Amino acid sequence: MHKHLLTPIALAVGAALAVSGCSNNAQNQASSAPAASASAPAPAHTAPAPASTVAIPADQPIAFTLDDQYNPCNDFDQYVNSKWNTANPIPADQTRWGAFGILHEKSLLQQKQILETAANDAKNKSGSALEQKLGNLYDAGMDTAAIDKLGYDPIKPQLTAIDALKTPADIANFLDTSFNNGDSYVFEFGSGADFKDATRQIGYVFQDGLGLPTRDYYLSPKYKDIRDAYVKYIAKSLELVGTSAADAQKQADAVMKFETELAKASLSPTELRNLDNEYHFVTVAEAGKITPHFNWENFFKAQGVDVGKGFSLSQPKFMAEFDKLLATAPASQWQAYLKFHLISDASPALSQAFQDNQFDFYGKTLSGQPQQKDRWKRVVGSLNHAMGMGLGELYVAKYFPPESKQRAEELVTNVRAALKEHIENLDWMSSETKKKALEKWALFLPKIGYPDKGEWRDWSGLNIQPGNWYANLEAASKYNYHYDIGKIGKATDRKEWGMTPQTINAYYDPTTNTINFPAAILQPPFFYAKGDDGVNYGGIGFVIGHESSHGFDDQGSQFDGHGNRVNWWTPQDKKAFDARADALVKQYDSYAPIPGKPDLHVNGRLTLGEDIGDLGGLNVAYTALQTALKADPKEGDAKIDGMTEDQRFFLSSARVWEGTARDKTAELMLNVDPHAPAKVRAFATASNMPQFAQAFQCKPGDKMNRKEPVKIW
Ligand SMILES: [Zn+2]
Repeated sequence: MHKHLLTPIALAVGAALAVSGCSNNAQNQASSAPAASASAPAPAHTAPAPASTVAIPADQPIAFTLDDQYNPCNDFDQYVNSKWNTANPIPADQTRWGAFGILHEKSLLQQKQILETAANDAKNKSGSALEQKLGNLYDAGMDTAAIDKLGYDPIKPQLTAIDALKTPADIANFLDTSFNNGDSYVFEFGSGADFKDATRQIGYVFQDGLGLPTRDYYLSPKYKDIRDAYVKYIAKSLELVGTSAADAQKQADAVMKFETELAKASLSPTELRNLDNEYHFVTVAEAGKITPHFNWENFFKAQGVDVGKGFSLSQPKFMAEFDKLLATAPASQWQAYLKFHLISDASPALSQAFQDNQFDFYGKTLSGQPQQKDRWKRVVGSLNHAMGMGLGELYVAKYFPPESKQRAEELVTNVRAALKEHIENLDWMSSETKKKALEKWALFLPKIGYPDKGEWRDWSGLNIQPGNWYANLEAASKYNYHYDIGKIGKATDRKEWGMTPQTINAYYDPTTNTINFPAAILQPPFFYAKGDDGVNYGGIGFVIGHESSHGFDDQGSQFDGHGNRVNWWTPQDKKAFDARADALVKQYDSYAPIPGKPDLHVNGRLTLGEDIGDLGGLNVAYTALQTALKADPKEGDAKIDGMTEDQRFFLSSARVWEGTARDKTAELMLNVDPHAPAKVRAFATASNMPQFAQAFQCKPGDKMNRKEPVKIW
């Protein structure tokens, strides 16, 4: 399946974190990357057992395990989370561990049960067509004997095709064909709403093609060890398909040189947050001037797509470098590069030796994960990429009670109302801009749980055969790619979901102006069906506020309520907004969250959108709580476990960020994750709220009682 070109702005970071290379291939997405749940800052588990398979009760008691050694006014994260963190070490097959991870594991187990039932149904030819497909796919993935027996046979035809490439035209043809099969190299191609007319979908070409996480990993002296390990990984990958050790070493060096050139022309994650770097509309003729050796007409024809007036060639400098390599890099260098990425992307779907090799680099070296995940977890992960929405259809039918949806809808309505109140009362914004902000607010489309009836995806065109894991994943990859690019030229569908219901996450999409809450996040510790308001507004209420505030973060604020990128701000108001945002950047820049590594800081520019989301989210959720308490004064006066509702609100907002990460993962995430680390999110937002200092009676000079708190929304 195609990864989202314009990533929806999610609550927390996604799974394929470490594997940032040509990740369009279904196989790659099957990868052993930090199972961080399709998006969580922390994958999870509770017991210090080696493999994570814990189920938590549907409605566990709402208790906080506070650590009185710490003063909440100075170490709020430690006060709320240190006991939990100590009692819940990271399982060997995880890179992070916390609330997100625990829910992710729970979701995986539920999916496994669904898939095992489906596999039985498929054998007995019972069950729906969808169940048969999922069952056959799961069964094929679990048949390790058949997979190991095939070795790398499934990719031999492509390896042979690469061996035959001699000229730039040969290479371009190979790329055209590969993309059409759902396998991308160097760049990505997919659909997205037009920034200038969000009602229609256009084609987007986006930079990709690096096996290391960002350009810095190729260019900065501090990543030399990782580079050396990467070159070894490349060489080993090539040896596994029969290349001699000496040749493999030479080719690995050539691949490294090739990727280094691409890296120099690549934009950093922070630069990619600049919307000017995400959209660059060109006609096919104009694109041809940027890449004279790559024929876009041929490319689109091979994909079977008509891009109409043009498409977004989003990073022209990167594509010009691709063109230069096409014209000047020796065929042997291209062959080495393409072969390696073919092998690396396919590895999770090949025999155990390939999986181990890939895990050794991306899991152990890059992320510090000691142990590979159990086979079934990897297979369920692959299935989520191949047929995630199909699996989600079965998941919600079995595990999502309609009452949860009703209660969540009520919370969304209340938090949205609080955001409206905040906009109306802003002291730094003119009435002119407020009017526009409120127009945008009114056009929000909240989506809760899962697609409406009749809006689930149609899988009838996907052919899944019993057995043959690799071929099935390839078929799904191709099917999903064509589903995606099939939208080009068509109307944007605001009702479509960009996340599966079994995902522990939530997102805002600026081009459709939708806020989306998958079913799986509507459970403890985010949401307690029978919980008190303090806890629920601090948990899921905060999440709802966070996603809503994304509509008004540094990126979201550049789109109107219809999803078009237009400026609706007066210059003075924009200046006032930017000054507040800059103050927040400065705060986050100052955090060095990894113990013993005081030089590694949060990049406040990279995390700005999420930090604004957190800040707006907690503020509006707090207001929504006060409104709810006014409606039920008894609840507001009563203490639960000796805590006021305000205190429980803040405790709950910090507890969703419980957990720890391995040092290597923590460092990697500082470089690539647009979210601040969980342990920073647990306290940083609240430190900007005087209501916190009041609730916990903090003194002047306490860290959580800032002299100059930032408030935006
Ligand atoms: Zn977010």
